[in-house]
Order: sequence, then C-alpha cells, then structure tokens
Amino acid sequence: MVTYSGKAKDVKVLNDKEVQISFRDSISAFDGIKKEELPDKGITSCLTSVKLFEILDGYGFATHYISKIDETQMLCKKVTILPVEVVCRNISAGSFCRRYGYEEGIRFEKPLIEFFVKDDEHHDPLITESVAVQMKLVTENEAILMEAITRAVNEVLIKIFDLISLQLVDFKLEFGKTTAGQLLLADEISADTMRLWEKKTGEKKDKDRYRQDLGDVIVHYKDILARLNAIQKIPKYMPLSTVQVIIRLRKSVLDPAGEVIFRSLSRKGFNSVESTRLGKSAEIVFNAVPSSELQSEIEEISAKILSNPLIEDFEFKIQHHSEKNEKEYVEEE
Ligand code: UDP
Repeated sequence: MVTYSGKAKDVKVLNDKEVQISFRDSISAFDGIKKEELPDKGITSCLTSVKLFEILDGYGFATHYISKIDETQMLCKKVTILPVEVVCRNISAGSFCRRYGYEEGIRFEKPLIEFFVKDDEHHDPLITESVAVQMKLVTENEAILMEAITRAVNEVLIKIFDLISLQLVDFKLEFGKTTAGQLLLADEISADTMRLWEKKTGEKKDKDRYRQDLGDVIVHYKDILARLNAIQKIPKYMPLSTVQVIIRLRKSVLDPAGEVIFRSLSRKGFNSVESTRLGKSAEIVFNAVPSSELQSEIEEISAKILSNPLIEDFEFKIQHHSEKNEKEYVEEE
C-alpha cells in the first residue's frame, strides 16, 4: 500500500476509493524551516478536524471525510488534491500584512479570498484566478466553485466559533477531486490551518503561537477542541446559493429585436455602438451550499428549461448568498 508522508500527516491509500490519514505530533512553520514534535499535537489536530468536518457535513458541504478511525486517524475518500489552496481572510494577519505592509487586526469590509499555488520550491506563491486557470491548475468552473464554497464555509465557521467566544481571523482550505469529478473539501481543518483569536482579549490561540514563540501551543489547541466539543447543539442554518444565469442568442441566429435597438441608437446619434443583441437572465436561489452537484443541476436547468439549445447559449455564476442566511440562522430547540 502506498503511503505519502507530509509535514504533519501520513496518507495511506487503502483502495481505489479510500485513504487513511494519520496525524503525527509534528508541527512546522516557514516552509518547514522551523519544526518540532509536540506531544498530543496529532490527537488534537485530528479530533479538531473530525469535529469541523462533521459540522460542515451536517450543513451539506461535500467533504472527503468518511469517519474517525481512532484519535489520530481519519478514514477519507481518495481524491486528487488540486494544486491551489484557498485562503479566506476576515481580519488582516500573517502573509497579508507582510505582503502589503498592512497593520494586523483590521477587519475587512467583505471577506477576502486568495489563491496560493501549492509549490514548496517557490514558497507557495499567491496567484490570481486567471493565472491559475491559464496554468491549468484549476478550471474556471472549479475556481468559481472553490471561492463560493470557501465563502459559505467562512459563514458557518464564523458562527460556530462565535458560539465559543473565538474570532475566526483567517483559514486555508484544500480541495480534492474524485475520479467522478466531484469537488470535495479535503486535507485538514484545524488550529494549524486557521487563525483564531479570543474574542474578549484578542489572545492568539492558533499556530501563530508556534510561529511567534508564544508558548503553550498545545494548551491552546486543546482549549479550542474542548470548546468545540462543549457545543451542545450545532445551530440550524438554511444554506442558500444564488445563481445568475445569462442566456444569449447564438451568434449565428438573427436577432430582430436587437437590430431594432441598434437602428434606434444609430438614429439617436450613438455612433460608437457597433451592434446590439438582446438576451435574458434568471436569478435562482437554491437552498443548498455551493457544490459540484449544484453546478450540474444548474447546467441541466439552464440547458433544458431556461434556454433553447438550438438557438441559445448560457453561462452562469454561483455566488454564496449571505444576507438572507442571517434570518434563517436559528438555534435548534
Ligand atoms: N495556512 C495554512 N497552510 C499554508 C499557508 C497558510 O494552513 O501553507 C493558513 C494559515 O495558518 C492561516 C491562513 O492560512 O490561517 C493564512 O495564512 P497566511 O497567508 O497569512 O500565511 P502565514 O502567515 O501562515 O505564512
């Protein structure tokens, strides 16, 4: 059986569909330049990941997590990890501050999404979506879906951590693809992959304790886990995704209505208008988090119901909906 060994985890391929992920006690930072073994690190990171994947599964997110094998091991679906990591930031910290000379602790008006290439040799550089697509690291559809899923995960995690008096500063997600092409949240989600600050005091509870030699790393990791485990009831939440579909007449099809507008514009002296074509758009709100399945459903709806494939094409954009969610967010009785 093949086993891959990473900086903090080992992944053993069990069969065509499953892998066993084992969390070691290793911790590292700065591309592995600083590293150490910390007792109970493996258990704490594994159990935190298990808890967070179970919470996300409960909200309908597609994840690689299947089950907990024991305190340091998870059974997961076998996926090909996409070579792009997605970082979501609510408050400025870390590489964002270093890159732009920006003060730490500034809350962003809207969560920021950044893509980084998984490439140790080049120190995981920041990459724009269009470059990632050009370099064929991800498809355009995957990039859009990764961003929409990350924004939706952010909304859920902000609420979960708020319940236990922690502020979610930022986090990193990795995505994998199954052989059937389904995009799944993969890797781990733990204090190693997110920044969490104590709400009242701003005290750092995450891997920055290790990066910045603040001490008591595992004490704080264990405290995060204990607080997560103490949540009696995970709040109910109605996830929504808004999709904009634009339907256009194919270029080869005559568009008399567009022609009428064009002639009228020309008569009125809008001489820089070269041509006009009319289309239609639809906004559909789904009660589901963004996913590959949702993307396929939208394609089917657009091709079979919203458009006439003989004469029209369509394109769509999934956005995670936020405002309406707030009203739907209620505690379970
Ligand atoms: N992160 C991660 N793995 C990486 C890089 C970043 O889990 O390889 C997490 C990091 O813990 C933080 C967020 O992603 O929660 C943003 O990290 P940042 O870009 O600020 O980089 P850093 O300061 O860790 O170098």
